[in-house]
Amino acid sequence: MGEWIDGKELAQAIQAEVADAVRRLKESGIRPGLAVVLVGDNPASVVYVRNKARTCEALGMLSERAELPADSSTEAVLEVVGAFNRRPDIHGVLVQVPMPPQVDARRVLEAILPEKDVDGFHPVNIGRLVAGNAPLKPCTPAGIIEIFRRRGIPLAGRRAVVIGRSDIVGKPLALMLLHEHATVTICHSRTRDLPAVAREADILVAAIGRAAMVDDTFVKPGAVVIDVGVNRVDSLERIREIFGEDAGRIAEHARKGYTLVGDVNAPRVFPKCSLLTPVPGGVGPLTIAMLMANTVRAARLCAGLR
Ligand code: NDP
Repeated sequence: MGEWIDGKELAQAIQAEVADAVRRLKESGIRPGLAVVLVGDNPASVVYVRNKARTCEALGMLSERAELPADSSTEAVLEVVGAFNRRPDIHGVLVQVPMPPQVDARRVLEAILPEKDVDGFHPVNIGRLVAGNAPLKPCTPAGIIEIFRRRGIPLAGRRAVVIGRSDIVGKPLALMLLHEHATVTICHSRTRDLPAVAREADILVAAIGRAAMVDDTFVKPGAVVIDVGVNRVDSLERIREIFGEDAGRIAEHARKGYTLVGDVNAPRVFPKCSLLTPVPGGVGPLTIAMLMANTVRAARLCAGLR
């Protein structure tokens, strides 16, 4: 029988540490500042950006937001990024993705100063991540490593299987697990007999973007399972297929017209694994906590502190 990993509780612990670090930095005259750039009005992005700003303020940091219209040119976005790069009171700069298609996302992300790149997506920081000495690491995978650290889950010598090879989750997480001395396998849409490969894992991470794809046939008894996926499911029939008569999920569907489902079929996996992250309330809260931690780190870097 499994046990849930409470991501909210872990995130709160990290945020309390961040608030402490902010207080100490302020005593030496530095107030960490985060600037978030939003292009367009993608509803999910609007919510993410608002949450980031709120958390930032709650922890005593300076929060700046630039909102650009959906038809902005690459040059217009570059101008805003350049202005934040030059401001000494801004230590972290983040451009919310996805951006509208006419904006050259690569040019924009590469324009952020590497020492202010709190998302850890700049090629310089990716290179440092490969070498194992990145000061600013991508937030979602860094949050997952924090789960292992804070829950005392050993990684050295263990088999880790990561399903998904995106630049923001799967690839950087596989590198971080490697640096923690796990034996790592990366799977993707071309992997043959995926359930059999997944069943070799002591640590199984699903970062796929397909609701409830990972069921009990993917899981070795006693494995630790991390569910990164966030998928909106609006069919009540599908919700019932996954969660049965779960009153909470059915009520949520009645209220909002959808429920958020991970990449893991939790009702089927929970009884077989040792630990599982819920969706929502698992990896998500840690992502934002790590962004706050990165902003403090960036402020220390800018000030020439450790
Ligand atoms: P991407 O779409 O960029 O990558 C998905 C990966 O899954 C790809 O590597 C793809 O393989 C692989 N994949 C897709 N279908 C299959 C399949 N049938 N079998 C095996 N592999 C498959 O997604 P992201 O990495 O950006 O995000 C993954 C999920 O995590 C999403 O649900 C997203 O919403 C969520 N997410 C959650 C965050 C959080 O804070 N909780 C943060 C970021 C993402 P291939 O490369 O071959 O196409």
